[in-house]
Amino acid sequence: MHAKLQNLYEQVLQRNPGEAEFHQAVTEVFDSLSPVVDKHPHYADAAVITRLCEPERQIIFRVPWIDDAGQIHVNRGFRVEFNSALGPYKGGLRFHPSVYLGIVKFLGFEQIFKNALTGLPIGGGKGGSDFDPKGRSDAEVMRFCQSFMTELYRHIGEYTDVPAGDIGVGGREIGYLFGQYKRITNRYESGVLTGKGLAWGGSQVRTEATGFGAVFFVNEMLKAKGDSLEGKRVVVSGSGNVATYAIEKVHELGGTVVACSDSSGYVVDEKGIDLEVLKEVKEIQRGRIVDYARLRGENVKFVGGGSIWDVPADIAIPCATQNELDGNDAKQLIDHGCTIVAEGANMPCSPDAIRLFTDAGVLFAPGKAANAGGVATSALEMQQNASRDSWSFEHTEERLADIMRGIHDRCLHTAEEYGAPGNYVVGANIAGFIQVADAMLA
Ligand code: GLU
Repeated sequence: MHAKLQNLYEQVLQRNPGEAEFHQAVTEVFDSLSPVVDKHPHYADAAVITRLCEPERQIIFRVPWIDDAGQIHVNRGFRVEFNSALGPYKGGLRFHPSVYLGIVKFLGFEQIFKNALTGLPIGGGKGGSDFDPKGRSDAEVMRFCQSFMTELYRHIGEYTDVPAGDIGVGGREIGYLFGQYKRITNRYESGVLTGKGLAWGGSQVRTEATGFGAVFFVNEMLKAKGDSLEGKRVVVSGSGNVATYAIEKVHELGGTVVACSDSSGYVVDEKGIDLEVLKEVKEIQRGRIVDYARLRGENVKFVGGGSIWDVPADIAIPCATQNELDGNDAKQLIDHGCTIVAEGANMPCSPDAIRLFTDAGVLFAPGKAANAGGVATSALEMQQNASRDSWSFEHTEERLADIMRGIHDRCLHTAEEYGAPGNYVVGANIAGFIQVADAMLA
C-alpha cells in the first residue's frame, strides 16, 4: 500500500473496531488506490478517502413487534446514510439474523462505489435489521415492517434517502413498508422506496435486474475476449431473487446453469435448472432447495451442506451472501477449469479467493460492478416516479443492458489507465472512487 495511504488506513480500522466485514470492504478499496495517489497525491493530502470511510449519518433504532401468539419481540433496526455526494442515499434493506452495524456499513460502503459506477445520480446507503423472516407468517412480517417504518419514515424521502430490498426484503416487504410510509406521512411519495409492485409505482425489470445485470456483465467480459455464453456450463449459488434471474438470463443467452443452492445445500441438475420449478419452490411455496430435487425427480442430485463450488463450471456466479466462496472453493474452481467469476451477491468471495483467481488468470468481476444492475434499475424506477411515467419492459431492459456495458467498459478502461490491465477490481474501485471523491472535493 502507498505510504501516504497506510496511516489513513490504520486510522479507519482503529475507529471501527470489531467490524470484520467493513474492514474487509475498506481494505479492498485501499489496496486498489495506490496508483491513484501516485498520480494524484491531492486525494491523500485532502484525506478524502478517510472522509469516505466515515458515514455521514448512522441511525440505530428499536423495532418492537408482536407475533401471532401475542408474544412481544424486540429487534434492532439500522440505516447507515453513508455518502450523498452524488445524490440521495440509495441502497437496500437486509432482514437477516446476521445483521449488525459492521454488515450494514460494509454494504453501505460498497454501495457508494457501485452507485457511482452506474453513472446515475445516487449516493450510497444501506439498512436493515437482525429480524429473521424465516418461518414467520405474512401477518408477522407485516407487523414487523410497519413497526420498522414507524421509526424509519422520519429519516427517508425521495430527495433524502431511498431504501429498497436486499436479502430478506422483496416485493412483499416493500409493499408493507410503503403502505406504512404513506399512512404516516399522508403522501403518495412513490420515489421514497424502490422495488415497488408494478401496479403502484414499480418499474418493469426491477425484480429481474440484479440477476440479468450480472449476466449482461459476464456477457461483456466474454465479448471482450471474443467469446460468448453459448454452450458454457455455469454454476450460480443461491436461489433467491438474484440467482433466479441470473439463471434465466444465462439460459436465454445460450449457457446452461447446472447447479444452485440455499443455506441448506445445493442441487445439481445436468440438463439445466428448471426455472418454473425453482420459482414454484422458492417464490411461491417459500420452501427449501431440497424440494426442487424432490419435484424434479431422479436425475437431480441434492447435496445437503457441502460446497456448491465442488461442481465443475466454466463460469461461476456467486449470488448468495458475503464470504460464501473461500480459498478452498477458489482452488476447486480453478482446478476444474473455471475462467470467469462474477459476483452477483455483495462480497461473496473472500480476499483469499480473489487473490487465487487473480494469480491464476481467472477473470474476476467484483460485486460493485457486476451486481450494480439492481440499484441502477432502482434509479430508473426513481426516474419514472419523478416524471409520473412508466416504461415498457423492452425499453427498461435496454437501458439496463446499456448501463452494464458502460460499467464494464469503464472498469476495463480505468484498470488499463492505472497499470492493471484486465483487473476489474482495480478498475471498479478507482473509477468509483474518482467520481465520488471529485464530487466531495468540489
Ligand atoms: N440491495 C441491492 C444492492 O445491493 C439493491 C439496492 C437498491 O436497489 O437500492 O445493490
